Amino acid sequence: MSADLSLNFSPRNFSARNKKIVLATPRGFCAGVDRAIAIVDKALMKFGAPIYVRHEVVHNKYVVDDLKKRGAIFIEEIKDVPENSILIYSAHGVPLSVRAEAAEKNLKMIFDATCPLVSKVHVEIKNLHKQGYTIVMIGHKGHPEVEGTMGQVNGDIYLIETEADILYLPISSTIEKIAVVTQTTLSVDETKAIIDNLKCTFPNLRLPKNEDICYATQNRQDAVKKMAQVCDILIVIGSKNSSNSNRLKELAENLGIKAYLIDFAQEIDKNWLNGVDSVGVTAGASAPEILVEGVIARLRQHEFNVIENLTTVEEHMIFALPSELRN
Ligand code: SF4
Repeated sequence: MSADLSLNFSPRNFSARNKKIVLATPRGFCAGVDRAIAIVDKALMKFGAPIYVRHEVVHNKYVVDDLKKRGAIFIEEIKDVPENSILIYSAHGVPLSVRAEAAEKNLKMIFDATCPLVSKVHVEIKNLHKQGYTIVMIGHKGHPEVEGTMGQVNGDIYLIETEADILYLPISSTIEKIAVVTQTTLSVDETKAIIDNLKCTFPNLRLPKNEDICYATQNRQDAVKKMAQVCDILIVIGSKNSSNSNRLKELAENLGIKAYLIDFAQEIDKNWLNGVDSVGVTAGASAPEILVEGVIARLRQHEFNVIENLTTVEEHMIFALPSELRN
């Protein structure tokens, strides 16, 4: 009996039998990304190529390359859209100035793929501005969502990225009407810390009625917190310019495990797997499931043959398509 046990539990057998992949659920596409891609997809099917899209419709290389092959043309400037074309705004939203410029052109149709949860922040900002509030936005400088959101009003809005930035805000701490809004894809914990600090600096600070950080960002970060307790490393599938994917990687690292952000399975370096028994796999909100399947196949080549799901919550959110593109 004891001889059998020592045979079964030799380090080699133990490792081969127990190497596992832990799949985060939820992971990958959120409702806003699903809707944005479907808008481009259905516009291509209904009207044919080319379809012009302002900015990458979502921040994922695989998705963007696939849509390019099918006739989507991604542009940054409205001046690059020919007259009589069909134009789609990306999921990140656009400033009012972009809408105004597009309205001046003779375009056949414009579809708005802005995520409804980003549009909700736009409405919030416009209302606050009308009521005379000075607005502080927490977000990443240069990110298209931040440019789109800040571009909903003309002035009286300031961007901060960190707690340290609060010191440099040119706003009196006794101001009566001051409000904060945030980008939808930030780190939940870091944002809370910045808001707490803002509240100390500006006692009259008005908080958003509902959280601006979206359900998908929150859920994927919650899942990573659980994954970090049971995995040796974490692989996050997502593009380098995907804000929510970067936050997942950072979160895992802050929780003490190595994390890697990759677009494709081929990027997995076998050295990452040395001495690893348990690989967590998740995907940012703009990464399709086909890329997760590729990562699983690749890990199987390295004897990660057991797959476990770690489910933290079920998601049922769906956003409707514009009426012209339904069926
Ligand atoms: S990550 Fe959130 S805000 Fe961004 S598209 Fe998805 S649901 Fe909308």
